[in-house]
Amino acid sequence: MPSKSEEELKFDVIVVGAGPAGTTAAYVLAKAGINVVIFERGKYPGSKNVMGGILYRKPTEDIIPGFWKEAPLERNIIEQKLWILSKDSAVNVGYRSASFDKEPYNCFTVMRAHFDKWFADKAVEQGALLINETVVESLIKENGKVIGVKTGREEGDVYTDVVIIADGVNSLLAKEAGFHPEIPPEKVALAVKDTIFLPKEKIEERFNITHNQGVTIELIGQITQGMAGGGFIYTNKESISVGLACLCSDFMKTGITPYDLINQMESHPVIKPLIEGGEIKEYSAHLIPEGGYDAIPSLYGDGYLIAGDAAMLVNPVHREGSNYATASGMSAANTVIRAKERNDFSAKGLSHYKTLLEESFIMKDLKKYRRVSRFSIENSHMFSLYPEFINQAAHEMITVDGVPKKEKQKKIWKLLKRKRSLTNLIKDAFNIWRSFK
Ligand SMILES: Cc1cc2nc3c(=O)[nH]c(=O)nc-3n(C[C@H](O)[C@H](O)[C@H](O)COP(=O)(O)OP(=O)(O)OC[C@H]3O[C@@H](n4cnc5c(N)ncnc54)[C@H](O)[C@@H]3O)c2cc1C
Repeated sequence: MPSKSEEELKFDVIVVGAGPAGTTAAYVLAKAGINVVIFERGKYPGSKNVMGGILYRKPTEDIIPGFWKEAPLERNIIEQKLWILSKDSAVNVGYRSASFDKEPYNCFTVMRAHFDKWFADKAVEQGALLINETVVESLIKENGKVIGVKTGREEGDVYTDVVIIADGVNSLLAKEAGFHPEIPPEKVALAVKDTIFLPKEKIEERFNITHNQGVTIELIGQITQGMAGGGFIYTNKESISVGLACLCSDFMKTGITPYDLINQMESHPVIKPLIEGGEIKEYSAHLIPEGGYDAIPSLYGDGYLIAGDAAMLVNPVHREGSNYATASGMSAANTVIRAKERNDFSAKGLSHYKTLLEESFIMKDLKKYRRVSRFSIENSHMFSLYPEFINQAAHEMITVDGVPKKEKQKKIWKLLKRKRSLTNLIKDAFNIWRSFK
């Protein structure tokens, strides 16, 4: 039976992980005068963290208004594009707006090693205690209730009223709390990313931007070689983040290695000119939870709450994860503040967390896309057949060769019917509508 006699090792709240979820929770709690400690396994927050990475203004601004004036951000995103790729071509859609070039902005590229450290320092300024280089190894329980954590340090047991588990996608603690046994490979994507350095002027010339303006390009089609997933190209100040993510189950099925896939993607004739001459200084890999709404069991219990990636709160359709982490960290903190007023840290006392999440954009969006995970697994042809067809159709219509446009239209329709029967086309259209409506 664990003992709680060492009172000096008791905090009101223990937060595990100084990513956006954990740091947000610690910031909000410390600001409310609550005695909170964050344990982070990295040398400093962000030192081990991987993201594309687009940081959205909204949830962070709710915590630190006007944060963009002092946070270490890379570029302010003014244009977002989608490239649908075939073997040697791309159909582009995008949106660029001068209004995104002004305060309060929409989103930014960030380097997590810089941003997470800055953000955690802000939580420390509010009064949170940050302990780096400390792995939380397990939860301490008494009569089924979480009452503390075991850290990897000598005499490292620390006690608390409530633990906020924010240790990311591969959360050992969430597993231990019974949240999930092992994430099935079809509910998690493996992402790889190269950070390619280029002079600032070259980046601005290639992406048609100036000063701190930035561009994002999402990629789907041939680059994933039929696997469910996609790629991205994001501009930083003096580097470009290039990466892709596909379901782990597809990597296992096909035997394709992420390393080969990203190399091939970078040699695609449409992508290569953007990164040519650049130097790859970082290669990283990370998991992304993509199970969606139906893969999320209870996010709280006696003495604990789970937030961010550890709780599988990610929206892969809109590549949003950091904002879900921040918003869920805030909801976790507000739940704890309420529980403290009532002195009730039981599962019932912490169930308010579920209400806050259900009322927020987090669960509303995840519910909207609850069928997407299954759709991606069952319809991998969407990632190859249609991108190829869209490019062929565009090529046909754009090529000026004396053939009347009506005939071209007929040729395109025939081509589509050769690729997919009418019944299957109707089925696909229905499935798309049902999954994304
Ligand atoms: C390649 C890639 C691209 C992405 N692109 C985007 C994007 O463009 N925009 C976006 O919004 N989201 C993106 N995401 C998702 C986003 O990164 C995550 O949703 C977000 O980081 C989740 O935040 P978190 O705080 O829950 O977890 P993390 O950011 O993973 O933080 C968890 C923290 O816990 C620490 N930790 C883990 N275990 C322990 C332990 N036992 N003890 C102590 N500390 C521990 C870790 O070191 C880490 O600091 C991307 C993800 C990947 C992999």
